[in-house]
Formats: sequence, structure tokens, C-alpha cells
Amino acid sequence: MKYVQTTCPYCGTGCSFNLVVDKGIVTGVAPYQRSPVNEGKLCPKGTYAHQFINSPDRLKKPLIKKDGKFVEASWDEALKLVAEKFRSYKPDECACLASARVSNEDNYAMMKFARGVLKTKHIDHCARLCHASTVAGLANIFGSGAMTNSIGDIAESKCVFIIGSNTFECHPLIGRRVMQAKAKGAKFIYADPRYTPTGKQADLYLQFRSGTDVALMNGMMQEIIRNGWENKEFIQNRCNGFDDLKKEVMKDDYSLENVSKITGVPADKIKTAAEWFAKSGASAILYSMGITQHTTGVDNVKSCGNLQMLTGNLGRPGTGVNALRGQNNVQGACDMGCLPVVYTAYQKVIDEAAQKKFADAWKFPDGIAKGENGYEVTTLMNVLTEKPGEIKCLYIMGENPMISDPDLTHVERALKTLDFLVVQDIFLNETTEFADVVLPAACYAEKDGTQTSTERRVQMWRKAQDPPGEAKGDWEIIASIAAKMGYGAQFPWKTSEDVFKEMATLTPSYGGMTYERLNRPEALHWPCPAQDHPGTPILHGEKFGMPDGKGLMTGIPFKWPQEVPDNEYPFVLTTGRSIWQWHTGTMTRRSASLEREEPTGWVEINTDDAKKLGVVDKEKVKAKTRRGEITITARVTPDIMPGVVFIPFHYVECAANVLTINALDPIAKIPESKACAVKIEKIAEA
Ligand code: SF4
Repeated sequence: MKYVQTTCPYCGTGCSFNLVVDKGIVTGVAPYQRSPVNEGKLCPKGTYAHQFINSPDRLKKPLIKKDGKFVEASWDEALKLVAEKFRSYKPDECACLASARVSNEDNYAMMKFARGVLKTKHIDHCARLCHASTVAGLANIFGSGAMTNSIGDIAESKCVFIIGSNTFECHPLIGRRVMQAKAKGAKFIYADPRYTPTGKQADLYLQFRSGTDVALMNGMMQEIIRNGWENKEFIQNRCNGFDDLKKEVMKDDYSLENVSKITGVPADKIKTAAEWFAKSGASAILYSMGITQHTTGVDNVKSCGNLQMLTGNLGRPGTGVNALRGQNNVQGACDMGCLPVVYTAYQKVIDEAAQKKFADAWKFPDGIAKGENGYEVTTLMNVLTEKPGEIKCLYIMGENPMISDPDLTHVERALKTLDFLVVQDIFLNETTEFADVVLPAACYAEKDGTQTSTERRVQMWRKAQDPPGEAKGDWEIIASIAAKMGYGAQFPWKTSEDVFKEMATLTPSYGGMTYERLNRPEALHWPCPAQDHPGTPILHGEKFGMPDGKGLMTGIPFKWPQEVPDNEYPFVLTTGRSIWQWHTGTMTRRSASLEREEPTGWVEINTDDAKKLGVVDKEKVKAKTRRGEITITARVTPDIMPGVVFIPFHYVECAANVLTINALDPIAKIPESKACAVKIEKIAEA
């Protein structure tokens, strides 16, 4: 028996634990005390992160669809077919989806494959659905689109403001740091339409209407400026755009009275929140998808930045704009250039110098994809339905859009237009149903590699057992397809470390990282540009990453969500997660200890609303939107705001994304998963 230390494959917190390996098989999880992130503690998902690994459902051989049915095939047959089909399309008839679930090495390989082998500009991944607004919004105002501070220093905060994040359920080990700050006397403000377990620990709870984030923060900023609580020195020395911000937030629209009407939060609570936040000396904002998944996602993110610049809460411990990234390696997948506009480390594809740098380094004899921006995954789905035939071929690695993407009927129509779909995953899922070829991949416990957590900490995965059957690591599969297509010389890697070394030479923020350095328990935070650089736990200490080093404040007008309630669809639907399940459920629903806790979905309805509807707790109801309908169990509770209902999105049998709207933020192209109009109906008795 042995212990193999690795990093949790679920949320972006990046906790470490030991996998217990008995006779070559992973049998359990044990604490790893030396991790500075979680200090040996784990949430339920981490505790049971071994249970799906040896599920009998694991894919063990390649599958090829013949006469509508999957048939097992040899690797040689599957690779030949995939290579032949891929070769038959023009470059921009192909698209690739990388994955926030797999390692940096796997994502780098996919990015190189897309741009170098297929020569397509269309590569994206599910960061589009969760934090595209963070990447675009923070890069626009700070010059870097990532969490500014580290998880540990949240405990140093004197005032923690969480908005749009159920941190204690979705990032529990970050919630622990909030409680540590509170134990030391910090004030804790929580804003969310649901009185979640996180809200129940807060000193001040602001129950606000989903989608009114900008109004709430503009109201707080007006109150701060009105009372002279802004940090004048920080604004003067470190920021541009204060006048623009002031002109907007001082409008009468954002008086306490008017903001209270828009948001539903009593005026005195907004005033208290503004005062606590501005006067604490070290205030941190934590947010997640409640901020980002809106048609105003970028505006919401920039508003968080505005509030922090106004109060001078950046570049110091206990402060910062702390975007809590959802999946284990969503930060890394973005860093690896699995976005349609950048190479690694956000080097723009339209920048000629960057284009030349990658073309020269990779040495594809027939060149690489043109230096043009490609389609985001949400745009891609629209293109598939609106211009069938423009994109013919899709290669998906470790994603399940048939549960995770908005408006699933639309996604299904989109996937059905494809000529050829390859899905590479560890299990069959709702998306593989539409695939022509399924390639069996290794999971996190079966390969070495790195992942980058929400705090920009790059940490190791270590192989604990062999993959089942003939499953292989993702970058190995990608390299095998490349070799079959005549590009073996461009994918010469023998180990994950070889892939990392190549990537680091092309990626300035990872340039000083090596496996040797990352093997230490504390690992490294990017940017780490040189081998003698210690890494950067806190960004923007002296200056921002903007050309003149100054942060950019901007006046942000409030806009309502695209679809608001009306007589026909009188409720706002917001979606989210459960502590027991993970995303599309492929892993947690195969983990008995997690699945038994919350084995199916529910719709949370406010007690008064339920009474008016004549609906009682645990009753089956229909939830309907303009996109579709589902049958789901009612959970009647006073903990959700009247007029708002909540559905977790993990469950295929009552899939929330049948209902959600494919309305996009105009810049980030993120869907508005947190607000659309819905009706709840009793099911007529037979
Ligand atoms: Fe894993 Fe996140 Fe739980 Fe930590 S908090 S154990 S990273 S799921």
C-alpha cells in the first residue's frame, strides 16, 4: 500500500490530498497535511474523489459508431478513421473544445493540435460558460484577467464581501478562510438572492434580485463618495477614470432609495455595507458565477474592480478582486491558450509577433492557423444551427455540452448538424450520444501533469494507478492523432514533463516553473517568469498590468437581464450547484457517497410563492420557459427571495439547461445562466 499526493479534480480551490493505492489500485483518499491551501482538510467531494475512478462504466476501448450503434475498435482503427476524417476538412470547417477538467499539458497539446495540425482558429472550452467575463473584464481594467490575491490571505481580510457565490458549498475550503477572517473580527457581508449556507454565516445579508449587481454596487459607491470614504490617494496615484466613474454612480438612479427599489435590498443595509466595506482598512471581494453568468457579466466584473479601486483595496493581503474559478483547471485551460483569441499566457493571436513566435517554435512545415480570432463555444453553437455546413467537424475533449450549455434543445440541434464529432472522455455521457468516435481517456489519478487553481497556483497531479483497459492520457491521444496525420515530429513528447517544458518556454508567466519546483507542497503562483522568481501570490502590488501601470475605473450603467419576468413567465430562474454534485454529474453521480446525499434535482421556491401556487414541499411540478419544460420536485423554503426560483444544473433527468436562455454578454459571449423568466405549474392530477 502507498500514498500518492495529488490535487483535487473538482473545484478551482486546488486542495491537495493523498490517494491511497493498494496493489496498484486506488482505494481511498487520505489527508495531506502539508498543503498550504487546505492544510489536510477536505470537503465531501475531495473526501470521496476516489470513488468514480474504478467505476465499471469507465471507457476502456475506442468506440466507433456503426449503423447508429457504438462498436469497440482498436486504437489503430479509431486513429486512422479520425485522422482520415480530420484531413478531409478545410481548416476552419473544424473546431476544438478543450477542457477545464484536464491538465495544463493536455490543454496545451489540444491548443497546439487545433492551431498547428487542423490549422483552425476555432478553439474554446467551458470557461466561456463560467468566467469568460472575468478574463475579459479584469484584463480590461487591471491588465490581467485572474484572481488578484491568494486563498490564504482571505483570512487576513477585515471585511469580506461575497457577491454571487455560494462559497461554503461550491468552494468550501475557501469558505474556511472567510470563517478564519471572521474569527479574527472581520465583518462578513453576503449578497445573493438565496439565503445559502454561506449567507447564514454573514454579519450582513443583502438579499437582492438576480441580475441587479451593477445597481447594488453603484449604490454602494455613491454612498462611499457621498460620505468621502473613497481612498483618494490610491485613486490619485494608481488609477485612471475616476471622473467617469463618479459621473455615473452619482446619478439619482443610484440613490439609496432607487437602488433599494431595483435590487430589493433595504436602503439601510446598502448604507451599512458601503460603510463597513470602505472603512475596514482591508476589504476583499469574492465572487463567482452569480456575477459572471449574465448578459452584463463583464459589467458586473468591472463593477467589482471599480469598488476595489475606489476604496484602495488592491495589491495588499486581505484585499483584492477574488474571482473564484469553478473547475479544477479552468484557470489553466485559459492560461494554455484554449480560447479563440489567444495563445498561452494571453498572447493575442492577432498580434503578428506572437503569431510568428508560435509558428517558429512549433515548426509545422505547412504553417499554422491564421492569426485571426475564432468562434467562442456559444457562438459556435449558434453558427451550427444558423449556418449549417460552415463548421463540419468538432473534436471535444472532456466536456459535456449536452448538460452544461444553455438551451439544450438548441445544443442538440447544433450537434446534429455536424458531419463528424469526436469525443474524448472517461465515461460515455449525454454528448457522446451524438459522437461518431469516442476515445477513452485517463482520469486525474492515472497521469502526471499540472493544474492551475483559482489563485493561479500551479500544482501537480501524480499518477497513482494505470488507466483502465486501453484508455490513455489526453495529450498522448492528441499526439497519436497528430502522428497519424503526419505531424509526429511536432509532438515528440515522451512524458508530461516534456510537454510542460515546451509550454513554459513559450509562456512568460510560467517561464520560471519546472516540475522540480512545482513538486514542493506550496508549488508556485504565476506570474513566475524566471527560475529564481518566487512566484506572485498577490497581483498589482505596485502597479497594474496596464500599459501605463494604472487601473482603469469606468462608469457602468445598470441594465436589466435580457429576459425579465412577465405575466406569462412570472419568476426569475437562477441556476447553480450543490455541495454533493459536480457539474454534469459524470464523476459525482458515480460516487455512491455523494450521489446518495442529493440523488436528483429540485426547484427551490419561496414559501409565500408556493402557497400562492398551491404547491407543497416535495411535490412534483413543471418548470417551463420559452425554451422548454422539465418535471422536477419542489423544495419550498423561506431561504429564497420571493419571485426567484433556483435549480441545480447537474441532473439530466430534470436538466436546468433545458430552461436557460442562450442570451450572451456582448463582449465575453458568456450565457445568462443566472436569470431568465420561468413559470412553475402544478401537475394536474390524473
Ligand atoms: Fe476539492 Fe474544492 Fe472540495 Fe477542495 S474545496 S476538496 S478542491 S472540491
